[in-house]
Amino acid sequence: MSLFASLLSYLNPWRAVLLRGSLWLTATALLALVIPWMLKRGVEAIERGDYADLVMFAGILALAALARGLARIASRLSFLHTARRVEVALRRDLLQRLLAQPGPFFDRHRTGDLLARFTGDVTNVRMLAGFGVMTILNAAIVYVLTLAMMLTLSPSLTLVAVLPYPFMLLGVKYLSRRLLYHSGRVQEGLGQVSEAVEETISGQAVIRAHGLAHNRCRRFSELNDEYLQRNLSLARLRALVMPVMVVVGPVGTLLVLYYGGIKVAAGALSLGDFVAFSAYLSQLTWPTLLLGWVLTLKQRAAASMERLQDLLTLPASSLSANTEDNSKQPLPEDAPRIEFQHLDFSYLQGEPVLRDFNLSVPGGSLVGIAGSTGSGKTTLLRLLAGLYLPPAGALFIDGVDLTQLDLRSHRRRISAIPQEGRLFSGSLRENLLYALPSADDRCLESIARQACLTAELEQFPDGFDTRVGEGGLSLSGGQRQRVSIGRALARDAGLFLLDDPFSHLDAATAQTVWQRIRPKLAGRTVFLVSTRVSLLAAADRIVVLHEGQIRQQGSHDELLRAGGHYARLYHREQLRDELEQS
Ligand code: ADP
Repeated sequence: MSLFASLLSYLNPWRAVLLRGSLWLTATALLALVIPWMLKRGVEAIERGDYADLVMFAGILALAALARGLARIASRLSFLHTARRVEVALRRDLLQRLLAQPGPFFDRHRTGDLLARFTGDVTNVRMLAGFGVMTILNAAIVYVLTLAMMLTLSPSLTLVAVLPYPFMLLGVKYLSRRLLYHSGRVQEGLGQVSEAVEETISGQAVIRAHGLAHNRCRRFSELNDEYLQRNLSLARLRALVMPVMVVVGPVGTLLVLYYGGIKVAAGALSLGDFVAFSAYLSQLTWPTLLLGWVLTLKQRAAASMERLQDLLTLPASSLSANTEDNSKQPLPEDAPRIEFQHLDFSYLQGEPVLRDFNLSVPGGSLVGIAGSTGSGKTTLLRLLAGLYLPPAGALFIDGVDLTQLDLRSHRRRISAIPQEGRLFSGSLRENLLYALPSADDRCLESIARQACLTAELEQFPDGFDTRVGEGGLSLSGGQRQRVSIGRALARDAGLFLLDDPFSHLDAATAQTVWQRIRPKLAGRTVFLVSTRVSLLAAADRIVVLHEGQIRQQGSHDELLRAGGHYARLYHREQLRDELEQS
């Protein structure tokens, strides 16, 4: 969609306000016309020596100027407020699109670049939507009305006065094209700088622990310098725009002074008309200057809108943002039956991560997944959640191909504990009830008990209202993990996807939490990935993955009897636990 069409679609809901704003602009321009006319009448009164008339015209002029000021304020409010609303709508749409994207999207895009679109790019579009639209409309109205007045006063002088204007616009147009290129580079640079800041802040612990702060600063300075250079190039170019206008503008005034002077001397134009004409001409200067500036603004906004369109035109079929009604509880009998049939999967341009994977899971059963790092355990859960799409005909939920499912309702049946188990800044209460904000305190306490958080809660001064810091940084890894467990348990889902949820807990705590949460999982389909294989003992079936393929499968006892990889992992773990306890 072109810049114009996209902008129009965002401005459309506010057309009534914009119409009102345009009426105020027209009123401003009409009132402005009164001023030179009163000057003319004033000069004529002076020529006549009628000072009472002069005072009256001066009074009307002052009133018109005051009214014009008020009308201008009203018009600005209409346009600038609308632009702020467009900005809000743009950000909302961008976030909704982002949340609807599958995993590969986030593999491709850098966080900083996405952030820059939410900030710099949205601001550029907002400036055009508000100030830009207002200036363009204002220039059009002022030109039509003022030129009409100038033509009434003297058609030939009008022609002379507007002669330099086409040259001015041509100059600005040429500069605008160059500006477009440079604005794009500046936005790109801002993306890189934001990315570096984001990475530095989130990785500050690693950077400092390795004593790499100095290197990081140097690298950041390079990026910052690059950004500065790009900004300077843009500023140099932008600085050229105003002088082009400022130099060309007075040329018109000079021509008017010369030809107008001759006309007045020859008696073809009255002095009053000449004064009024000059005043009208000067009223054209400012809107023209602003128009030139808006042309450059338009170029910037076009570059930004293109970057926003990249996101806004992404498919939104599985929109999962605020349209999703999380409060609706799926029924327990929603525990789905799952079937993998010859599933092959690889990430973008990568080696196959899962190969010829076959597994049939009856609804309501507990599947344990073991395997070495990188064997594809997390990938399996991501596919089940529809975060990455499997190939068609390979993964069936209750007999329906996952690629044919409405992902929104599919995800409503799922409660997951992702490996990274990220918390959100806010209180413990908000995090625990993230998926079920309407739950009451009794529910909250029961969740905390199941996730073994009660003892900690007694130590925290603010209990459930304790703030967890950004990303839960003020909690220990184990605490964060237990909050993630609690958060997942709050929802009565049919399919639980638990990705190594006990990895930061000691053996005894892990066992306790697991025993406490099991009743809650009864009757649900559960996939439990665990590097601690003893926790998988209760699973109906355990699958041992190796390089994306099933190496072994069976119940805990069967696998121990078989004496393969699983049995080795299990015995090694038992030995380690005994050593730790002794
Ligand atoms: P596990 O959970 O068993 O440790 P994963 O499923 O996380 O294994 O990863 C399996 C393989 O897929 C690894 O080789 C890993 O490098 C690769 N992988 C994981 N996530 C991505 C991704 N987003 N893009 C590309 N490759 C990935």
